[in-house]
Formats: sequence, structure tokens, C-alpha cells
Amino acid sequence: MTQQTIKNSISVIGKGLHSGKEVKLTFRPAPENTGIVFKRTDLKPEVSVQVNPDRVQETMLCTMLVEGNVKIATIEHVLSALSAMGIDNIYLDLNAEEVPILDGSASPYIFLIESAGIVAQSAPRKYLKIKKTIRVEQEDKFVEISPYNGFHLKVSIDFNHPAIANTPKEMNFEFSGMGYTKELARARTFGFATQLEQLHAQGLALGASLENAVGLDDKGVINEEGLRFPDEFVKHKMLDAIGDLYSVGPIKGSYNGHKPSHAMNNRLLRKILADKEAFEYVEA
Ligand SMILES: [Zn+2]
Repeated sequence: MTQQTIKNSISVIGKGLHSGKEVKLTFRPAPENTGIVFKRTDLKPEVSVQVNPDRVQETMLCTMLVEGNVKIATIEHVLSALSAMGIDNIYLDLNAEEVPILDGSASPYIFLIESAGIVAQSAPRKYLKIKKTIRVEQEDKFVEISPYNGFHLKVSIDFNHPAIANTPKEMNFEFSGMGYTKELARARTFGFATQLEQLHAQGLALGASLENAVGLDDKGVINEEGLRFPDEFVKHKMLDAIGDLYSVGPIKGSYNGHKPSHAMNNRLLRKILADKEAFEYVEA
């Protein structure tokens, strides 16, 4: 298992969740030990920001990378897809302050990475190996990670909403790229129609629509096509957790999240990294 990047550059144009305007994202191959580096090509001079848990913040709408006054919003689904495809090193060039939302899942990013091709590099892959259980709690929610010789995730949700309460609440996933592509990649983000109307009225979330989210009203799903999976809600939370955790790169450990949020996943990573006995880096 060596580090990997993509073979060819590839671009996609899609709507920004915040602005509703077209934004362009270009994936470019990167040398060994580069990590994941976003570049704002619309700024003069251009600014590069490496993905790192210290630079990740959660906003009302998305996960954002922030360094100084440079922001890169809505990074969560592309990180999840990079994790699934085992991409260690990549440049992500953006001509706006947000990643295109595309269909609200990770599936289009998987397609792009597969189309670009994946190449093995020479340096061994580095894993963050969990050495003791670390847990973050908030009200009735928790996220924790424990030692495990592999990467396993368990996610459970508990929404008091008729459309969600009747769908499976729990999922276990033994991480693999193939399993991810088949079972998780297409799960879309979801939100409430009344909230979206309020946000639109304030000039926010201008790009959000039923084309990039599962919309819910008081009774159920309002998208004509319905759900992509009976358990699309818990699957999307799993997809999000995988993306959040990838801000430290590949992990050897077992994750358990009950009603997880991006912010809690980020706190978990910061807590691990702050405790020298909790982890070590190992090579494949
Ligand atoms: Zn998401």
C-alpha cells in the first residue's frame, strides 16, 4: 500500500451551495507527501490551503476550510470521495470560495476520480493509528474512536421526523472503496423545506434545491423521485463522517458516532491529536 494520486487532471463545473453561481473545481495530480491542498485561483495572488483538522470549521450549511481570511466552503463530500478512492495527494483548484455541491452526494466526485485514473506512488501510505479510546459528548450525542486494526465505522441517527424515523437508524461499515461506491456514494444530504425557504429569503443557500438534497416537509420526502436507498439518511451521515475523518488522512481505528455532526467529528480529531498517547503514525 503506497500513497496514491490521480493520473490526469480533470475539471467539473457546478453550482455553489451558497452563491448559487457556477464554480469550477479542477483535480490535479500532486507529488508524494503533499496531502490534500485546495487552491483559490480567483484570488490574486492565488492562495493554497492544506487540509488539516486545525483549519476545519463547521458553519450552518457546510464544513469549511479557513486560513486567515481565506475560506473554502463545502469540502465534506469531496473529502469523503477522496478517502474512498484512497487518494493521498491531490491539488484541488477552485475559482470561488466554495466547492460545487453537484447532486448533494459524493457520487459525482467518485466518477471524476475514476475518470482521471488513480496512480500508485513510491512512498508508503501513512496511517493515523488509534492507540486508546477517545470520546466527545454533547447532550445526547457522542462520537468516539477506539483501537482497531482496520477502519470500521458505526453511525446511528435519531430524528424525530416521520419520514426519517421509519427508516433504518443504524449502520455498520467495514471501510472499503468498493463498498463505499456501491453502498454510500449516492446518499444525498437532506434538509427541511421550511428552513430552506427562510434561508433563501435571507439570500443564503441560493444554490440549494431538490437537485442537490433530499427535501423534507412535515409529512415526508418532497422529491418526486423519492429516496435513493431506504436508509439514505443514515448512509449520508456515514458518508459525512468518512469525509470529516479524512482531514487527518487514513485512519486505523473503529469509529462510533451517535447523532454525529461535522463539528463533533472535528473536535474528536483535535482531541486525538492533542493526546500523544492516543495515536501514532504508522506506515503501510
Ligand atoms: Zn453531507
